[in-house]
Amino acid sequence: MDNYLDNLNESQREAVVHKDGPMIIIAGAGSGKTRVLTYRIAHLMNKGVDAFNILSLTFTNKAAREMKERIGTVVGTSEAKNLWMGTFHSVFARILRSEGHHLGFPSNFTIYDSQDSVRLITSIIKEMGLDKDVYKAKQILGRISSFKNSLITVKAYYNNPELMEADKMAQRPKIGEIYQQYVDRCFKSGSMDFDDLLLRTNQLLTQFPAVLAKYQDRFKYILVDEYQDTNHSQYLIVRALADRFQNICVVGDDSQSIYAFRGANIQNILNFQKNYDNVKIFKLEQNYRSSNNIVEAANSVIEKNKTKLDKEVWTDNSDGEKIKVMRTINEIKEGRFVADSIFENKMNNQLQNSDFAILYRTNSQSRAIEDALREKNIEYVIFGGLSFYQRKEIKDTLSYLRLLINPNDEEALKRVINYPLRGIGASTVDKLSVAANHYKKSIFEIICNLNKTDINLNAGVRTKLNNFATMIQHFKIEAETKDAYEVADFVVKQTRLVKDLEKDGTPEGVSRVENIQELLNAIKNFTVEQKEKGEDASLAFFLEDAALASDLDKASKDDTPKVSLLTIHLSKGLEFPYVYIVGLEENLFPSAMSMNTRSELEEERRLFYVALTRAEKQAYLCHAQMRYRWGKLVDCEPSRFLEEIDEKYLEHLTLKVAETKQNKFINEDIFGSVPQNKIRFKKPIQRAPIKKKASPKMEFQAPKNLKKVTGKPSASANLFDSNVAVGNRVEHTKFGRGEVLSLEGTGPNQKAEIRFASVGVKKLLLQFAKLKII
Ligand code: ATP
Ligand code: MG
Repeated sequence: MDNYLDNLNESQREAVVHKDGPMIIIAGAGSGKTRVLTYRIAHLMNKGVDAFNILSLTFTNKAAREMKERIGTVVGTSEAKNLWMGTFHSVFARILRSEGHHLGFPSNFTIYDSQDSVRLITSIIKEMGLDKDVYKAKQILGRISSFKNSLITVKAYYNNPELMEADKMAQRPKIGEIYQQYVDRCFKSGSMDFDDLLLRTNQLLTQFPAVLAKYQDRFKYILVDEYQDTNHSQYLIVRALADRFQNICVVGDDSQSIYAFRGANIQNILNFQKNYDNVKIFKLEQNYRSSNNIVEAANSVIEKNKTKLDKEVWTDNSDGEKIKVMRTINEIKEGRFVADSIFENKMNNQLQNSDFAILYRTNSQSRAIEDALREKNIEYVIFGGLSFYQRKEIKDTLSYLRLLINPNDEEALKRVINYPLRGIGASTVDKLSVAANHYKKSIFEIICNLNKTDINLNAGVRTKLNNFATMIQHFKIEAETKDAYEVADFVVKQTRLVKDLEKDGTPEGVSRVENIQELLNAIKNFTVEQKEKGEDASLAFFLEDAALASDLDKASKDDTPKVSLLTIHLSKGLEFPYVYIVGLEENLFPSAMSMNTRSELEEERRLFYVALTRAEKQAYLCHAQMRYRWGKLVDCEPSRFLEEIDEKYLEHLTLKVAETKQNKFINEDIFGSVPQNKIRFKKPIQRAPIKKKASPKMEFQAPKNLKKVTGKPSASANLFDSNVAVGNRVEHTKFGRGEVLSLEGTGPNQKAEIRFASVGVKKLLLQFAKLKII
C-alpha cells in the first residue's frame, strides 16, 4: 500500500480525510479535485467502508477506469473492482436492468442512441401526416430531451399551459402528441433512450419506496465529479439516494460548466449549500497542472464572466513559455502549422504523439487538421464526430445483433428487415407498423403471428416475413450458447452482409467490408478480455458497452500513442502537455449560435477556459483569416477571447517570424509545411519517433478522394503495382507494424495478407492500404 496521504497538499488532505456528512469541493481547473475524489474513496475503503457501499459518478467511463486503477494501488485491485463507479448513464442503466421490471421494462431493454431516436421520431411524424419541414425530427427530439431532463412527462406537459403555448406559437402544436407516441413506442419495443435512463431511474426511485430504500441503504457514500454539469434529473437522483445517510461529496468548478445546452444546471453547484444541512466547504487553490503563464492567462479570461463564484487559482509551477498565437491564411494552412509544430516539438523535446491534443469548437473542423496530420504521417485519434459506431454498415451489423437480443427493438428491426434486400418493401413495413399499433404488440410479434391478425399481405410476402423471423430466432438460439464473437461472426456470415458488399466491388464497398471486419475484431478483443478477467463475454454485454461507451472511452482501448483530436466539450477533466486550440475566430469560437445573450457568451467563455486549462506546458492558439464554412469562403475576425487574454502572456508567432524574415511569401513558407530538413534538433536523438519517409516507390498512398475512384482497372492502375513482397516488414498507419504473409491479384486489385502485432492477420487492398516497407 502506498502512502497516499503524502501525495496531497494540506487542503486536499483535509478534504480526503474529512468525516461523514455533506461536503463540496469547489476549485479551479487542475487543482486536484478529481485526485481528491479518488483518494477519498481509497481512504474510505482503507478505513473499512465496503466498496459495495460506495457510489462514484464520473464524467466518462474512462475517468472511472483510471480512478479505479489508482484506488486499486492503494486498496488492492480486487477490492477496487467492487466499487460502483461510472457515468450516470452507465450506473443507472445497470440498476434499471435489475429493477426496470417495476416499470414494465424487460431486463434486456435496448438503449437507443440519438440516431435511433431520430429515426423513430421521423417515422412518427410521417405516420401522423405532419409536415417534416415544420416538425424537424432532430429539433423535436431536442425538445423531448429537454422535457425529460426536467422530468416533464407527457402528462406534465399537458398540465403546463406555458409549454403548450410556446409550442403553439412556434407553429408546432402537435409536439405533445409526438412525445406521447414516442414514449409509447419506446416502451412497447422495450427500449430507452439516453434521457430515459435518468428519467426512468427517477420514476423508479419516487414510485417504488422499497427500491429507493434498497439503494439508499446500499450507497452509504456517494461522490460526484464534475458536479457543475449535472442536469436536473441527475441532481434529483443524487439527492434521493443521498437522503438517508447524507454522505454526499461533490466536486466541481462553476467556471467549467459547459453543458447548459444539454440541460446542465449551474445552479446545482451554486445551491448545494441550501440543499443539505451543515455542508462542509473545501477550497483548493493550487494548480498542479499548468505553467504559471497558462494559469494566469486563463484567470485573466474567466475574470470577464459576471456569474461566478469567487475563487483563487495559482501555481507554484514555473512561468513556462508564453502562449503562442498563430494566424494563418486559411484552415488548410492552420492544419499544416499544427502538424508541423507537433512534428517539430516532438523532435526537439523527444515527445510522443500522446503528449499532444488538438481542440476545436465543432467537429467539422477536424477534417483539415486530419489531412495535415496524415500528410506528415502523424498518428491521431478522433474522439466524437462521426465515429466508427455511427457508420452505416456498423449500425446495420449492430442492428442484427441487437435484434437477436431483443426482437422487439423496433428501430433495429426496421433497419435490417430488408437489408440485405429480401423483398420486404416499405409498404409492407408500414402495414406491419399499423398492425403493431393496433394490436399493441411489437412488429416482431406481429410477424410471428401473422395468421392471428387481419393484416393484408400476399402469400409471397408472408413467406419472406416468416423466413426473416425464423432467421432471427435461429440467431437467438445460437446466442444462448456462444460468446459474443462467435455469435457476431455467425450472424455476419449468415446474413450475407459482407458478401453483398464484396460483390459491390467499389472502394466504398471495400472500406465497408474492412469496417465490419474491424467490428468483429473489436468484439473479438472484447470477448478475449472479458474471458481473461473472468467476466461476462456475452453479446448482450458487448452491445451495452458499445451503446454506452462514449467515443472517448473507445479510443482508450488502443495503446499506440496518438495525437488526440477532440472537441472542447469532450476535453473536460483531461490534460495534455501540449495543447493546440484551433479556429479561434468570431462566429466559430465564440459560436455564432451562442452570442445572443450574456449567459450564452459566458458559457462560451467558460468553454475557452476549459480548453486553455487542459494544457500543462504549452498552449497554441490558432486562427485563420479565411475559412470555408457552409460551402463558402468567409473572412474571419480573430476571436474576442484572444483579445481578452492579457498581452503579457502571449507571443504572436506570425508577427515575429514575418518581421525577422521579411519575406513577402512568408505565409506560404511558414504557414505551409516546414520542410523537414529545415528543422533543427536541439538534442541528439537516438531513435526518431517518426520513420523517415520511404522512397515514393515504396509507398502506397490512398487516392485523395475515394469516391472518385472506381473499382475498374484504369490507365493509372500500374501506379498501384507494388514492390511489396512476401516476407516484407511493413507499417500501416492504423494497424502499425506487420509482416506480409501472402499476395494475390495485380494492379488495383492486388491484396496482401498481413500479420499485424496489434490486430492479427488482415487482408488489405494495397491500393488503399497506406503501407510503408520498413
Ligand atoms: P479539472 O478541473 O480539469 O477537472 P482537477 O481539479 O480535477 O482538474 P486533477 O485532474 O485532479 O485536477 O489534477 C490536475 C493534475 O495535478 C493531475 O495531473 C494531478 O495528478 C496533479 N496533482 C493534483 N494534486 C497534486 C499534488 N498534491 N501533488 C502533485 N500533483 C498533483
Ligand atoms: Mg477533474
